[in-house]
Amino acid sequence: MRSQTSSKGVARGESVRSRETVRVTKSGRMLDVSLTVSPIKDLSGTVTGISTVERDMSESKGLEQQLEHQAIHDPLTGLPNRVLFADRLRHALSLTDRWQEHVAVFFINLDNFKFVNDTLGHATGDQLLIEVARRLEACLRPEDTNARFGGDEFTVLLEGTRAEEAETVAERVLEELQAPLALATEEISITASIGITFGVSSLETSESVLRSADLAMYGAKADGKAGYETFRPIMRARAENRLRLENDLRRAVRREEFVVHYQPKVQLASGRISGVEALVRWDHPERGLVPPLDFIPLAEENGMIVPIGLQVLKKALQQAKVWQERYPGDPPLLMCVNLSARQFQHPEMVQDIVEITRDTGVDPNCLDLEITESIVMKYGESNLSRLRELRDMGIKIAIDDFGTGYSSLAHLQRLPADYLKIDRSFIDGLKASPENKVLVSTITYLAHSLGLSVVAEGVETIAQLAQVRELGCDMAQGYYFAEPQPAMEIDALLKKAPRW
Ligand code: C2E
Ligand code: CA
Ligand code: CA
Repeated sequence: MRSQTSSKGVARGESVRSRETVRVTKSGRMLDVSLTVSPIKDLSGTVTGISTVERDMSESKGLEQQLEHQAIHDPLTGLPNRVLFADRLRHALSLTDRWQEHVAVFFINLDNFKFVNDTLGHATGDQLLIEVARRLEACLRPEDTNARFGGDEFTVLLEGTRAEEAETVAERVLEELQAPLALATEEISITASIGITFGVSSLETSESVLRSADLAMYGAKADGKAGYETFRPIMRARAENRLRLENDLRRAVRREEFVVHYQPKVQLASGRISGVEALVRWDHPERGLVPPLDFIPLAEENGMIVPIGLQVLKKALQQAKVWQERYPGDPPLLMCVNLSARQFQHPEMVQDIVEITRDTGVDPNCLDLEITESIVMKYGESNLSRLRELRDMGIKIAIDDFGTGYSSLAHLQRLPADYLKIDRSFIDGLKASPENKVLVSTITYLAHSLGLSVVAEGVETIAQLAQVRELGCDMAQGYYFAEPQPAMEIDALLKKAPRW
C-alpha cells in the first residue's frame, strides 16, 4: 500500500481502494463504473471523512472488449484469427491424451485467388473471402473452430474426429466452395486445396500440427488442386530436401557455380552452324553437373533465376564475343539464351540486358532470347511491349517450345518475334504419325507467311533431318548434330566447321 503525506491541504492517497462494479441508471441502463474510495484527513493526519469517486467506464470498457476481440479475430470475415486458432488447437491437443481422442486440422488454401484479386479487384476479392468464410462455417458443427489464417488461407479444427469423418467434412467443404458464386459483376466458381493432419498426442505443438497440415495442402496443390491430401511423413522429408536445395542454390549463386554448355543450331540451306543455344548446368561440389530441370523450376519459384540468368547471359555473351572474333562469319554466330517467366517479368530485365551487351561488346543483333510460348501468351499487352522494346534494340526473339502451349496459330500474328522453335515432341512424332507431318508443315507455312524463321528442335536422326528439310524448316538443332557441350568442345566443332 502506498503512503503519501503532504505538508498542506488534505493528505490523500492513503488506503485508497478502487474496484470496478456495475451501476444501474434510473432509466435501467447498465453502467460499468470504477469506484475509488479514499480517506480524507486533516493536517494532523486524522481521518475526517471518505471520498468516493465513481467514474463511468462504459465507453472505455466497450473499447477494451473491442480491442480484445480484434486481437483474436479477422476483421474482414469475423472469424477467429491465427492467434485464437493456435490457442484453441493447443487446448485441444492438451486433451488428446486424456480422452484418447484425435483432433483433425485442415489447412485450406483457395486456388487461383490471386488471379481473382488481380483481375476483379480487391473489393471483389474481399467479398469472395467473406463468402468462403460463410460457406466454411455452414459445413461445420458448432463445436468446430474455423479460422482465417491469413490472406486466402483458412484453417479448421475438428475435435474428437476420426479420419473418415474428417475426409467427409473435407469433401463437403470442397463441394460447398465450388458452387457458383455471384460477385459484384461476375459469377465465378472457386476451388480450394485442403491439407489434413491429425494431432494425436499432447506432445505435439500447435506449430508442428499446422506445419504438417500446410505441407499436406502443398501436396494437394501439387496433385492438381481442387482436392484434399492427408499429411504423410515423406512430405516433411521432401520439404527438407527442398530447403537444402534452396540453401545450396543460394550458395551457388554467390559462388557462381554455374557453367554454360552450348548446342549448335544448323542452318538447313547451307548445312552450317549458324548459332548456338546456351544451356545452363550447375556444377555442384558434391553432386557434379546438375541438369537445369532439377533446379530451374525451384529457382523460378523463389526468384533466384534472375541472378542465375544474368550470370548465364554474361558468360554466353563473353563466349559469343570470343567465337565471333575467332570464327568470323556473315552473319556472325548467333547466341541464343533462354529467358524464363520470372526473368522476363523482372522490371530491370531490359536494362540488365542493355548493360551486358554493352559490357561484352556483342552486337545486339547477334543475341537471340528464347521465351516459351506460354509466357508470351499469359501476360498480354505488357509482355508484348517488352518484346517490342527488345526487338527495337535489334535483339532477336524466339518463341520456344512452340506447340506445347495453348496459343492458337492466330495469336502468332501479334507476336513481335523472329524465330519459332517447334517443340521436340512434334519432331519426335514425325515418323509415327502423318498428322505430325501436316502440323509441322502447317506451322512452318504460317510462320513463314508472318515473316518468322522456323527452328526444328530435337532432331536426333538423319531421317528426321531429311524430313524437317523437306517440310521447309529453316534451322534445326538436336543430338544428331551435337549434344550440348562445354565451350571447349564446341570451339573444336566450330573450328572444324562441319557441313550437314
Ligand atoms: P529448352 O530450352 O527446350 O532446351 C532444349 C533442351 O532439349 C535441352 O535440355 C537440350 O539438351 C535438349 N535437347 C537438345 N537436343 C535434343 C535431342 O535431340 N533430343 C533430346 N531428347 N533432347 C534434346 P537441357 O539442357 O536439359 O535444358 C532443359 C531446359 O532447361 C531447357 O529447355 C530450358 O527450358 C531450361 N534451361 C536451360 N538453360 C537455361 C537457362 O540458362 N535459363 C533458363 N531460364 N532456362 C534454361
Ligand atoms: Ca530453348
Ligand atoms: Ca525448347
